[in-house]
Amino acid sequence: MRLSRTLAPTLKETPAEAQIVSHRLMLRAGLVRQTAAGIYAWLPMGFRVLQNIARIVREEQDAVGAQEMLMPTIQPAELWRTSGRYDAYGPEMLRIRDRHERDMLFGPTNEEMITDIFRQSVKSYRELPQMLYHIQWKFRDEVRPRFGVMRGREFLMKDAYSFDLDYPGAVISYRKMMLAYMRTFQRLGVKAIPMEAESGPIGGNLSHEFIILAATGESEVWYDAGFERMDFSGSAVSHQSEADLERFFAEMTTPYAATDEKHDPAAWDKVSDQRQGRGIEVGHIFYFGTKYSAPMGLSVAGRDGIPVVPHMGSYGIGVSRLVGALIEAHHDAAGIVWPESVAPFRAAILNLKVGDPLCDRVCEDLYARFAGAALYDDREDRAGVKFADADLMGHPWQIVVGPRGAAAGVVELKRRATGEKLELPIDAVHARIG
Ligand code: ATP
Ligand code: MG
Repeated sequence: MRLSRTLAPTLKETPAEAQIVSHRLMLRAGLVRQTAAGIYAWLPMGFRVLQNIARIVREEQDAVGAQEMLMPTIQPAELWRTSGRYDAYGPEMLRIRDRHERDMLFGPTNEEMITDIFRQSVKSYRELPQMLYHIQWKFRDEVRPRFGVMRGREFLMKDAYSFDLDYPGAVISYRKMMLAYMRTFQRLGVKAIPMEAESGPIGGNLSHEFIILAATGESEVWYDAGFERMDFSGSAVSHQSEADLERFFAEMTTPYAATDEKHDPAAWDKVSDQRQGRGIEVGHIFYFGTKYSAPMGLSVAGRDGIPVVPHMGSYGIGVSRLVGALIEAHHDAAGIVWPESVAPFRAAILNLKVGDPLCDRVCEDLYARFAGAALYDDREDRAGVKFADADLMGHPWQIVVGPRGAAAGVVELKRRATGEKLELPIDAVHARIG
């Protein structure tokens, strides 16, 4: 992408409406623009990040056997009357009426819809278990939309749903999702702590919120410092056998556990290295048994022919919230410091003398070599502006091309995260960071 031809409106001034650093930086780096309270347009640079996060989420869902699909944003109210949630949901639900006076709504979540679809198609125990997910916009008319995309009204969520024959089956699905989540967050460059959450009337300790530590987080958490050292990329659970999953789950959730004040002071006493912090909820997983399948009449023929009501769980990740949350976790005074896995571009090529034939040629060659993975700052601006914008936008690498270096066959390479700089022969750049 050529910056001179890109809608990336960076701001020098700090926007007055933004209270927290991620919101300020998202506006300043030209990632989003608000179009109504809590509703945002994603500009090209922000959209690339959003897509990168969605891709990683998708890959890890697929890896535990969840199937991707896409359900609509607009739902008939009728569906929500069958579960009893239409009236219960309250003013957070955006209610719409179509031209035929039918009550519709903009989906805040999809339990009813997936249960209905499943009910129409799945008839036998042989077709279970299944996990399905989609990545789709949700609308919740939050009382106080704030912090930019972190608490928006329209936001992008990955929501998955599991269907199992019985409780033990549901537990396996739940553990697989827990594994997918830990891997997802690790790949996104953050440590998310699984914190036991209110499990509602069903109990069973099968509800966890995933919390990224950040000073501006909305909730307070207490956790064992050991979490910060954990690695989920290892092979111990790569085969997802039941025993591996059980061991993994135990490690994630027993006394070790993170907690909020309400939970289990006895377990907390056993934690050796206690830490307190604030956190942002980026995901929530939840087993809820037959809460929707029973009232909505979902049942399948069991092994002995007797109808069985499937046990369900739902599993959310705040994909758009994560853009803000990752910035909260990765920034410095100059701007965003993207984790490599989600950065809009791997590198920015800064042409310090646009119009100089040699600089232009070196930049064009490098740009071609990176084949879409580099942003080319070809604007006729001062070097200072380019340095500042590259730091603000936070690409992991900056390739600085000036007339003197170009004449000597070298460019300067700067690593955004550390500020470390080195000079490299032009031909070595792509091999080094490409
Ligand atoms: P919160 O307590 O923050 O309102 P929630 O419990 O309502 O979250 P869930 O219904 O579990 O959230 O939704 C799954 C995920 O969707 C959350 O973990 C969060 O990351 C994200 N999310 C929820 N509400 C919003 C919102 N208003 N804006 C952006 N992301 C959101
Ligand atoms: Mg909420």
